[in-house]
Amino acid sequence: MTDNLRKAFPGLLAILFLAVVPLLSVPPFWITLLNNIGLASLVAIGLVLLTGVGGLTSFGQAAFCGFGAYTTAVLTTAYGFSPWITLPLSLLIGALLALPLGLITVRLSGHFLPLGTIAWGLALYYLFGQIELIGRFDGISGIPPLEFAGYRFLSGKSIYYVIWFFVIATALGARNLLDSRIGRGIRALRGGGQAAEAFGVDIVRAKLTVFVLAGIVAALSGWLYAHMQRSVNPTPFGLNMGIEYLLMAVVGGAGQIWGAIFGAGIVLLLKEILQRYLPELIGSAANFEMIVFGVLLVAILQISRDGLWPLVRKLSPERPDRQIAAPAGSLPRRAMPADGTSLLRIDQARKEFGGLVAVSNVSFEVKSGQIVGLIGPNGAGKSTTFNLITGMLPLTSGSIFYAGEKLSGMSPRRIARHGIARTFQHAKILPTMSVLENVALGAHLRGNAGVFRSFLHLERQEEATLLREAAHQLERVGLAAHLHRPAGDLALGQIRILEIARALCLDPTVLLLDEPAAGLRHAEKQELCLLLKKLKQEGVSVLLVEHDMGFVMGLVDHLVVLDFGTLIAEGRPAEVRQNPAVIAAYLGGVAA
Ligand code: ADP
Ligand code: MG
Repeated sequence: MTDNLRKAFPGLLAILFLAVVPLLSVPPFWITLLNNIGLASLVAIGLVLLTGVGGLTSFGQAAFCGFGAYTTAVLTTAYGFSPWITLPLSLLIGALLALPLGLITVRLSGHFLPLGTIAWGLALYYLFGQIELIGRFDGISGIPPLEFAGYRFLSGKSIYYVIWFFVIATALGARNLLDSRIGRGIRALRGGGQAAEAFGVDIVRAKLTVFVLAGIVAALSGWLYAHMQRSVNPTPFGLNMGIEYLLMAVVGGAGQIWGAIFGAGIVLLLKEILQRYLPELIGSAANFEMIVFGVLLVAILQISRDGLWPLVRKLSPERPDRQIAAPAGSLPRRAMPADGTSLLRIDQARKEFGGLVAVSNVSFEVKSGQIVGLIGPNGAGKSTTFNLITGMLPLTSGSIFYAGEKLSGMSPRRIARHGIARTFQHAKILPTMSVLENVALGAHLRGNAGVFRSFLHLERQEEATLLREAAHQLERVGLAAHLHRPAGDLALGQIRILEIARALCLDPTVLLLDEPAAGLRHAEKQELCLLLKKLKQEGVSVLLVEHDMGFVMGLVDHLVVLDFGTLIAEGRPAEVRQNPAVIAAYLGGVAA
């Protein structure tokens, strides 16, 4: 078997199983259950994108099913539309309503975000029950079945195929999307998205994208539901179902597309079994099944916090490392600015945190082709200066220029476009994502494939060039042996080097490195030193924060010393080292 076939084998088996089930004489009850699992899977796939991958927890997804279901219910019963015409309209309504809801929701943070979704989830449920046009709490009945070339999808068995066609198509598309440049941006939202922003990902837009996509697939589920059930009322679109959908995604494994289908299957099967057998065991005086249901789910999550799908995957044979396809061409490179021109100019930069002045009217310059060291004791304001230059923090006063253009006030992502790339003192990587993909995030601005092309995997050539570039930069920094390992498996020093490779993927003119040598062994430090010298030869300018004086001295052209936010000395390394104020600051730092 070829690798591709072996990889696809479990999937093909699952599809074959799904295809033959209705042909066997299984009781209709099973078909109904499978139909419900399919419908729920669609919503859960959306939630995997939104919650599992994007980190945005939503309890309100059932409302989007309602938008899809009611759109087709109204248009087919009151206006005589054909169901196939209402399909795009239902999805469009889902998307259009997701936009304003998303705009409000994605700006919330922490626990306000799930609370926000509960609020609109509840409100929309009651709204469905109040609108005359959609039959208030009675709903709408008499919805026509789907029809194709004269065939009416009236039976559970026939609509089964329609439902599962959409489930599989959606799952494949969602998987494609995650496995793309856009998907990397979405995945990088976890953990705050600062790294994503520093490499040019528009994080509000990425969040809105997943929010709208989750809304669209939920609307699709609602559209199918309306034509399966042939009547709708508000009950299935309330908060209860919203919670259940979220459980499905979490039980399956919140970050796994196939886990969504698995989770929907487990949860609905469990519910069915409990509702059937529990009353026989302990009587039907109360709704015991909800209690048992809850306890079982907690137990499942205790066994595996990442849901059950990862456990299932462990049973399947080891997958071969993904091969990077040969790219069609190479990525265009930025023209390097002429040596010696002023590249970065920090002019009276000031940053106050409440009463604390972290950076106090600091001015200095990085000329192109230079390596400039920024040193000073802990808390001197070095990392804050980096955050000001890259736009992660707004300046209190002063300005920053790049080649004469004012950067201050721009978003981190616009600043990154100028060719300014950085590493973080506290590494910001995605531990579960491969080393290669973590680094490829750095090349985000060098691709342009959008959601649609990614969903259909029409951007494979571009993706191959981006991955090639990431692999090339990893080779360059000496991490070629680790491309396919989860980044979290690397040693701390290696993670810092990974961040340098990621920054190099941006094709930078200026590289800002925040303590890159911390945690490196002596030999590794020397390699880093050689790499930085080589980058300098290629015309890349470097601003380097470092504690190790020895490391800095032999490397930098110019040294800037900060102490308590104030610039106390700058000049050639040899001169600065003799400066009494510098000696005092360093000795003072040691004495303290
Ligand atoms: P360095 O990188 O030179 O060690 P930093 O720039 O991280 O120093 O910090 C400078 C000062 O600003 C420190 O006193 C630190 O506690 C403070 N500081 C840094 N970031 C913040 C923040 N986000 N909020 C409040 N104070 C901060
Ligand atoms: Mg620092």
